[in-house]
Amino acid sequence: MRLIAALAFLAAAQAEEQRFHYERPLMGTLFAVTCYGTDEAAAKAAAGEAFQAGMEVNAVASDYLPDSELMKLRPSKPVKVSPLFAELLDASFTKARETEGAFDPTLGPLTKLWRETRKTKQLPPSGVLAKARAACGWQDAVWNREAGTLLLKKPGMQLDLGAIAKGFTADRMFAIMKQRGFPRSCIAAGGDLRLGDPPPGKQAWRVGLQTFDPEQPEEVVELENCAVSTSGDLHQFVEIGGKRYSHIIDPRTGLGMTTKVAVSVIAPSGTIADALDTAGCVVGADQAEALGLKFGATRVVVRK
Ligand code: AMP
Ligand code: MG
Repeated sequence: MRLIAALAFLAAAQAEEQRFHYERPLMGTLFAVTCYGTDEAAAKAAAGEAFQAGMEVNAVASDYLPDSELMKLRPSKPVKVSPLFAELLDASFTKARETEGAFDPTLGPLTKLWRETRKTKQLPPSGVLAKARAACGWQDAVWNREAGTLLLKKPGMQLDLGAIAKGFTADRMFAIMKQRGFPRSCIAAGGDLRLGDPPPGKQAWRVGLQTFDPEQPEEVVELENCAVSTSGDLHQFVEIGGKRYSHIIDPRTGLGMTTKVAVSVIAPSGTIADALDTAGCVVGADQAEALGLKFGATRVVVRK
């Protein structure tokens, strides 16, 4: 009798949970927080704090903001970085080492060229490309975890953390939602997701993996307490001379990848999923799955 009463109470408590949804533009895309709970004011406050944390990452690591900590790094001597930046750099250089530079956080000079190419629809002259390539290379950036310092060894070096920052930010935002009593939360960083406990009454979150036709999710997966991130030439590319150059830079050529591939990574954290989806595109359809599974993914879906 007592058990039935307790179950009835639980069911009533569950029924009262509502869905709350908040959105904000951040990092050149739309971020969204969806959560379930009974207290709208608390949900709004928690989401506000989460967005604030996202803006903090952007202020530190954006390569679009001239005043960010990243943009103020200067080559040739070790620079002591803030704790937040240190956390992101540590994750970035770990993934650079593991993927042997398929994910390379030092490609700033090349991604800058790619953005110009997208505007002008002209590939860079070979001399310009060679100069930018010479200023890249994760092995010429010395991240010292103990000292919390970064040394960029070569002149003109410039970080670009665009391939990991969204996942890292989603992790931070989710941690805040959970801390504030909203473990049933989903953080969307553009199309990349960090998921917590499932919505009330559900076994999991249902997620459609992105495909080359964004209107048509190819496969729906049921997930909880993990992240899913997709990379590839699905949306961002430039076409020149009948060739499609993706925004993923091939460190071997310095240009955007020209092979049609999209990689979705499911992993315990957004940071891991985001770094590995990009690395997966670089190593290519045949090796993406093995690489991902070796370095922290729980599942890798490759489309070509
Ligand atoms: P994502 O959508 O997660 O694959 O991130 C793509 C972004 O990461 C690009 O727009 C560049 O800013 C940056 N990027 C491109 N190629 C690489 C690479 N090989 N390694 C690390 N970052 C990259
Ligand atoms: Mg990525």
